Formats: sequence, structure tokens, C-alpha cells
Amino acid sequence: MDISSILQGGYQHPVSRTWQGRATLTKSMLMYPIFITDDADASTEIASLPGQRRWGVNKLEGFLGPLVQKGLKSVILFGVPMTCEKDARGTPADDPAGPVMSAIVLLRKLFPDLYIAVDVCLCEYTSHGHCGVLHDDGTINTEPSVARIASVALSYAKAGAHCVAPSDMMDGRIKAIKRALIDGGYGNKCTLMSYAAKFASALYGPFRDAAGSAPSFGNRKCYQLPPSARGLARRAITRDAGEGADIIMVKPAMPYLDIIADAARLAPDHPLACYQVSGEFAMVHAGARAGVYDLRTMAFESVEGMVRAGATLILTYFTPDFLSWLDEE
Ligand SMILES: [Zn+2]
Repeated sequence: MDISSILQGGYQHPVSRTWQGRATLTKSMLMYPIFITDDADASTEIASLPGQRRWGVNKLEGFLGPLVQKGLKSVILFGVPMTCEKDARGTPADDPAGPVMSAIVLLRKLFPDLYIAVDVCLCEYTSHGHCGVLHDDGTINTEPSVARIASVALSYAKAGAHCVAPSDMMDGRIKAIKRALIDGGYGNKCTLMSYAAKFASALYGPFRDAAGSAPSFGNRKCYQLPPSARGLARRAITRDAGEGADIIMVKPAMPYLDIIADAARLAPDHPLACYQVSGEFAMVHAGARAGVYDLRTMAFESVEGMVRAGATLILTYFTPDFLSWLDEE
């Protein structure tokens, strides 16, 4: 056999196998998505998301304390209002007494070292369930949508969020949010993470269950990207990097590894996030339950693929598991 044919000598040992990646998963690369609801004492199981719950603010200390002890570095908050009065412009999104605003203030106090990102969108708070403000004919009215989203983002920053993360996919909202943060005195205090390439995916089902955010009519295909749209995704990534995003995100992750790799090349100087969404998480669990693979092995493989593609930050419901698993590695 020719010398150049032999590769196995380079990765025959468990330690030398760990040297084969350009990056390895660490605890600080994990961001844990948390659902905050308006019943302050809630701890409600979400049937479609194994092990995940909707939390009330009074339960956050008991829930997150042990995870912070284990090395949890960052969370991203999603509001799940169950009782508030929703309207056409999503007024409850930044109600100072609302669940997300209260959670930001409380978490800053409870866990001074925890990095707190907050999802910014209107769909959980609008009567129609869409991510923006609508024209009378039900189509998106871009300018008021972007203005409203920017003002919600600024409210979260003022409440103490370290990072605001708009997931609405309205055109021009990154520039508007960055402007609002700078003009409001938060330009140097708050990170702007853009859901830059967010695809219209079948994998959001369990999240919509969890957040109660399915639109009351139509769908989100006029603002979320078609799954085949590699070119559009590239344009959105380049645009958002140019409009002032501090972090670029691709969502979902597993079926879009090529887009993550594209983003790593298009915005090589930005941190690159990807969101292993609810349906991906549920799918990994379902396969393990069906005996297709071992849960932990598959969870690692799924996330290592994202790291290999170029992700430096991973939003995943597996975060609590990884905090334990990485200790055992
Ligand atoms: Zn939305």
C-alpha cells in the first residue's frame, strides 16, 4: 500500500480523534431557549418537547440555579403570554409587567454572570399571530412593523437584556434596531443577534405548541425563506451583517448545514449561531425512543455537524444534557 493511502494512523486513539476538528463543543457555545409564561407559578410540561416546560418567573431560580452551577452561560427567553389582551400591534410584547420583561430583570439580579438574550417578535402578542403589523388586506406593512419591533427590542435592552434577537424576518429591521439601540444609549450595551437566514420549516411545530404562536390565518411564507433558497439566504446574511448585526444566525440547523457553512464564509468575522429547533430536538428524541440510535451519541453528532459547518454558538434544548455530558467526556 502506498504511503499516502494510510490515514488511520492519525486517528487511532480517542485523544487523537478529538484533534481532528477545527473546533470542539464547549459549554460557552450553548445557549438554552427558555419559555416564560405569565402565570408566575407555572411549571407546565410541553408534551411535544421532551423534558421542556413553560416556566413562571417564580420558578426560574429553582430551575436555572442548578444549571448555572453546572456551567450554563447563556439563555434566550421566549414569551408565552396565555392571559394577556393581544392586539394588532402586539402591545403586550414590552409590557413592563409582562413575563419576559419581568424575567429579564429577575434573572439579571439572580444570576449576575448569566448572559441573557431575548427573542424579539410580535407573533406571540398580536391578535392575528403574524410577526409584524398588517395592512387591511392581511399583508405585512413593513415600515410600522420594523418600527414596532425596534421599539420592543429597545425596551428589552433597557430592562437589562445583554442581547436582542429579532426572529421576525421583516426587511430592514436589523438597521432599525441597531439605530434604536444606538440612539437610546444602548449601542455599546446590547448585542444584536439576527435570525438572518430563517427558513419556513416543518420543524417549528413543537415550538408553536409551546409558545401558542401559530398564525390565525395564512402562514409565514412571505417572510420566512423557502427551504430551497440558498441564494436568498446568502443575500439575507450579507445584508444583515451590513446592517449592523453582531451575530448571524441560521435556523433551523440540521437540514441547513450548507447555509451555516455559507454564513461562515460570507461573515467570517462574526460569531455564527444556529438554532437546533424544537422539531430537530423532538426528532432526535423520537429516533432514540424508537431504538434507531443512542440519544447522547446522536445529540453529539447533530451538534458536532453544526460546529464543523462553522457555528460558534448553538441554541439547543439539549443544553442541560450537554452540561452533564461534557463533564463526563
Ligand atoms: Zn414571529
